[in-house]
Amino acid sequence: MFCVECGAEGKTYEGVCLKCLTDRRALIRLPEYVDIPQCKRCGHFQAGTAWAEMEVEDAIRNGVARREERDALVSGATLTALAVEPEDAMNFRVRAEYAITLADDQVPWEAATKVRLKAGVCPTCSRRAGGYYEAILQVRGDGRDLTGEESETVRALVQGALGARPDDFVTREEAVNGGLDLYLSSKALAKRLAAEIQRSLGGLVGTSSSLHTRRAGRDVYRMTYLIRIPGYAPGDVVEVEGRLRQVGSVGDSVTLIDLATGESDRVEAAALTGVTPRPVETADAVVVSREGDEAQLLDPVTFATVRVPLVAPLPDDAEEVPVIRLEGALYLDLVRLAAKG
Ligand SMILES: [Zn+2]
Ligand SMILES: [Zn+2]
Repeated sequence: MFCVECGAEGKTYEGVCLKCLTDRRALIRLPEYVDIPQCKRCGHFQAGTAWAEMEVEDAIRNGVARREERDALVSGATLTALAVEPEDAMNFRVRAEYAITLADDQVPWEAATKVRLKAGVCPTCSRRAGGYYEAILQVRGDGRDLTGEESETVRALVQGALGARPDDFVTREEAVNGGLDLYLSSKALAKRLAAEIQRSLGGLVGTSSSLHTRRAGRDVYRMTYLIRIPGYAPGDVVEVEGRLRQVGSVGDSVTLIDLATGESDRVEAAALTGVTPRPVETADAVVVSREGDEAQLLDPVTFATVRVPLVAPLPDDAEEVPVIRLEGALYLDLVRLAAKG
């Protein structure tokens, strides 16, 4: 084979040698400028239709790759090096090196462009700035005010949930009578948070929706999630059906462990509305001796030796056990004991 342009002997592509081909045609062409929008509020870069947090080098690599135009003869190309030379904080000279597959051959190739970062505002920041919200999460105490500690737990759960997805945000938080209102960027975030709050603080979640607006012919609803935190928490002692029971896990149903027998039951949370914990003292008591399914414990308040039925197994070498003191009587603290495993 010989080149129809220059007559050189050897391999040809569409009748011409590699040199004549590449004199006439760019195998990979980059535009003179590649513009990459960057959010001036959060610093995220636009990559296609999405915005994401990334290193500037990665944003440049990504932006350049999206704009490369390959000649029809190129069947494959691998970026082998990318030299990025900043002119200033927003402008970069970029030189890309490729290994191109042309028919059965590997051909090296270089292309250059200028990358310009363009300050913009991503959709998330623009919605946040506009006070946008899709859902309200109302957190209340059941028949009482939310405690400061519960509010802190809720705030910590919010912070944890926000870390998971960069598009989520809290538009505002309002302290209201008896609790907190959180205005949230998405219904999914509100739903997820309601479930997490329920797992750690218990309570029942109710939902309601209201028509917010019509957009593109569709009704857009806002959701309100209301969660009422019960008066009891894991570890508390409540009296239900005349029996003293310790609260295990909380949620839509609640685990109750009978302090006298160690038996545990699951009860619908709705059946426990208005139930409040009994005031108890918790302490560790010294094990004086044990015999069968009974132990002699030293009452940590009176220092009297008290017989306590072993309704749950103690570790063999336990010198102290967690106890609950209620109206002068001692019980094993079954929740703390189980947690010690
Ligand atoms: Zn030629
Ligand atoms: Zn942003």
